[in-house]
Amino acid sequence: MELFMEIMLFVLGTCVGSFINMLVYRTAVRYGLTKNKITNKNRSFCDYCGRQLKWYENIPVISWVVQKGKTRCCGKNLPKEYPLVEMIMGIIFVMVGLRMELLIATLLAFSLIFDLKYMILPDFSTYILIVLAIIIGHNWFSGLGAGLFLLILYLVTKGKGMGFGDVKLALFMGLFLGYPNIIVAFYLAFIIGAVVGVTLLVTKTIKRKQPIPFGPFLILGTTIAYYWGEKIMYYFSRWL
Ligand SMILES: [Zn+2]
Repeated sequence: MELFMEIMLFVLGTCVGSFINMLVYRTAVRYGLTKNKITNKNRSFCDYCGRQLKWYENIPVISWVVQKGKTRCCGKNLPKEYPLVEMIMGIIFVMVGLRMELLIATLLAFSLIFDLKYMILPDFSTYILIVLAIIIGHNWFSGLGAGLFLLILYLVTKGKGMGFGDVKLALFMGLFLGYPNIIVAFYLAFIIGAVVGVTLLVTKTIKRKQPIPFGPFLILGTTIAYYWGEKIMYYFSRWL
């Protein structure tokens, strides 16, 4: 029975992953961030020629594998990120289980991917996250503290180190995590961000002064702190 439940959660997760891919695409079109202009309000459609997809062209992961990563209509390459996001969401759904956190995980995954691709944290996603965090977390003090902390950093760095979207996301983080986990989340975000940033520079993956989005690190820090924040605090205090 448990295995059946996990398989169902995995399948549901891949479908949500497929939904995230679509939402990233449509949001990018709406924000004018992509050359593609094709949208269709009701049905799933080909990103490139706009033809409506048959149900069997729209099965998460499987359609991509069967079609060898190409569209059936016009033979264009479909991004590898599509099946990757679907697989990862399937795994995340199995790990989180049937809980309210699934909704938060979905929105965070969407924001993370969108920020990686376009360096923007879409407001609508952050605002829903804030409302959810007020409902289940309601740590007002750490929410306002976290938002204020990043707001000061944002003003001091004149928006070079991070965007205003990160400040709004910090409000969510504080509300959702509470104290002291919010501190752990910030530490992790800055440390992982610095390590990744330096690695990208040293390997010449990015040029000097090329900005990298900070949102993905905040989201990674939030996730780790939510599940392992107390353990990390415990080992850290013993080590000191
Ligand atoms: Zn097509």
